[in-house]
Amino acid sequence: MNSLPKQLPPYIKNENGELWLTEDERENLKISYRIKDIIFSDQSPFQHVMILDSYDFGRMLVLDGVIQTTSIDGHIYNEMISHVPLQFHPSPKKVLIIGGGDCGAAREVAKYKEVEEIHMVEIDEMVVNVCKEHLTDVSGNLSDPRVKFMYTDGVAFIKEHANTYDVIIIDSSDPVGPAKELFSYEFYSNVYRALKDDGLMVCQSQSPIFHMDVLKQTHANINKLFPYSTIYTATVPTYPGGLWSFTIGSKIPLSLSESKLMPTDTKYVNADVLKQCFQLPQFMKQQLL
Ligand code: SAM
Repeated sequence: MNSLPKQLPPYIKNENGELWLTEDERENLKISYRIKDIIFSDQSPFQHVMILDSYDFGRMLVLDGVIQTTSIDGHIYNEMISHVPLQFHPSPKKVLIIGGGDCGAAREVAKYKEVEEIHMVEIDEMVVNVCKEHLTDVSGNLSDPRVKFMYTDGVAFIKEHANTYDVIIIDSSDPVGPAKELFSYEFYSNVYRALKDDGLMVCQSQSPIFHMDVLKQTHANINKLFPYSTIYTATVPTYPGGLWSFTIGSKIPLSLSESKLMPTDTKYVNADVLKQCFQLPQFMKQQLL
C-alpha cells in the first residue's frame, strides 16, 4: 500500500487496517467498497479528486466521494454515451464533449475515422491529468491529435457557440456543484443553438430507479427543445441502482443506417445492444412516455 494521506476524507475509513470507500449521497443507503490502495488524492479548485484501487472494480475515479467510473464497468457507460449518438448521425465530423474528464468518451469517439475534431470542455484539469496517468483502463492515455482539451466551464463555453457541432455529448457528474447547471433548460437551449441543423445531443440523465425526478425533468426539457427525442438505458454496476439512463435530443429523425460501421474494438456495444437499449421497462414507459 502507498503511504496513506495524512488526513483521509470522511468517506474513506481505515477499519482494522482495511480501507473502505463509502458512498452515502442518499440518506438511507450507504454502499461500501473495499480499497487496496489510494493511488492519488488531492483537492482541485472544484472538487476532491481521488484515484483508488479497489478489490472488485479495479481502479476508480472518485470525485467528492462519488464514484465516476471504474476499470471494470467504465467502458459500459463510455461506449453507450458515445457510440449511440454517433451511430445516429449521418456524418459526424465535429464532436463536443462537455465534462468527460476521465477521457473514456473521447477515447470512444476517436474510434470513428470520419470524426475530424473532438473538443473536450472539462472544468477540472486535474481530473484529466490523473485519469491519463493513473486510470489508463478508461482513458487509454488518450493522445489522439484530433482531441483538443479546453479547461473551462461547459455552461459558459456553450453560450459562445452557435451552429458549430454535429454531435454534443454531455458527460457530466451528478447535478450538484459545478455540474448542476448542466441539467438546466437554459443550458440545453444553448446546446440546441450550438448544434448544426442536422445535429444531435446526448446526456447522461441519471438513475431511473433513484432519480426519476431528474430524468423526467431532463426528458421534458429536451423534448420541448428538440423535434426528436428518445431515452435509452444500460446497466452500470457502480452507479446507484445499476440501471442508468441517457437522453438524446435531435434536430433530425432518429434512424439507424445499415451502412454505418460500428468500430470492432468495443467491449459492450454492438448492433444488438444498439437496437435493444431503447426498449424501456414498463415503469419508465408509464412515467416518461
Ligand atoms: N461517467 C460519470 C458519471 O456519470 O458519473 C461522469 C464522467 S466525468 C468524470 C464528469 C466530469 O464532469 C467531471 O470530471 C467534472 O469535473 C466535469 N464537470 C462538472 N461540471 C462541469 C462543468 N460545468 N463544465 C465542464 N465540466 C464539468
